[in-house]
Amino acid sequence: MQITGKTKVLGIIGDPVEHSLSPVMHNAAIANLGLDYIYVPFPVKQGNLAEALTGFGVVNLQGFSITIPHKQEIISLLTEISDDAANIGAVNTVWRTKSGWKGTNTDAAGFIAPLKAMNRDWTKVTPVILGNGGAARAVIAGLTNLGCPEIHVVGRNPDKLARFYESWSHAPKITSLLKIHNWDNLSSLIPAADLLVNTTPVGMSPNIDASPIDKSLMQKLKQNAIAYDLIYTPNPTQFLKLAKAQGATTLDGLEMLVQQGVVALEIWLQQQVPVNVMRNSLKEYLGL
Ligand code: NAP
Repeated sequence: MQITGKTKVLGIIGDPVEHSLSPVMHNAAIANLGLDYIYVPFPVKQGNLAEALTGFGVVNLQGFSITIPHKQEIISLLTEISDDAANIGAVNTVWRTKSGWKGTNTDAAGFIAPLKAMNRDWTKVTPVILGNGGAARAVIAGLTNLGCPEIHVVGRNPDKLARFYESWSHAPKITSLLKIHNWDNLSSLIPAADLLVNTTPVGMSPNIDASPIDKSLMQKLKQNAIAYDLIYTPNPTQFLKLAKAQGATTLDGLEMLVQQGVVALEIWLQQQVPVNVMRNSLKEYLGL
């Protein structure tokens, strides 16, 4: 593409941003659509966020993604945030409005996109989530939007788990669905799970032989369950291999990554975007 004085700029801010995959998939989609846009990384250190936002206003940036360490801090600098962002307590996508910058979190929608494509009655599905970090928050917001009747979260650290539960006090609907459990309870939880989600980093490259659930525990999983790993490299993970051997339907983290990007790009461009192009650009880049 040719960059001219008319080219519109989108970007991502964070520290570090060097390893972000967003420029790969967004620029692939922009090129495929033949649009006069470019998506670029902006390294912004902690403490420089307000200054960066003022600068973006001055240079007419159209919108941007946000990664660590600014996802929470950005909230107080925005005019408005979506319900998902308020529930999760973090923003990953910002765009311009007449009244100022607006933010949302597209991880919840990205997480549930491949689930929505399945023909299931989500009001009858029992989800079990492994891990209680940042990604688990988006998963919980997504499963609430999907209509799940209860959401079980399993963590290894009782203090962190208790704090995690308390951190939802601003969202009474979610608190009413949320049940937290220690890791020891897994042997009774796994047989009840219709959807088992790994939000821990266990099994990520280079520890590709690790799984948060071992073979004997996985053998308790229902054969028609869905196993969803948020990890995207390796692909598939050991967790997904064990689940597949058990007969479960499997979903990988690449799809969530792609779909959260699709939701963001559609907000910025106000048009449909080529999902296949985005997915394939990431697969090629990651060597999958
Ligand atoms: P995080 O905030 O650090 O949370 C990780 C969670 O996993 C914590 O609850 C942690 O427990 C738990 N954990 C870590 N090691 C564990 C172990 N050995 N056994 C049991 N639990 C363990 O990280 P995050 O941002 O949520 O990211 C988690 C994973 O999701 C990463 O692999 C990331 O790449 C992936 N992710 C994927 C997408 C996507 O689009 N596909 C998006 C976001 C994240 P403690 O709190 O006790 O340490």
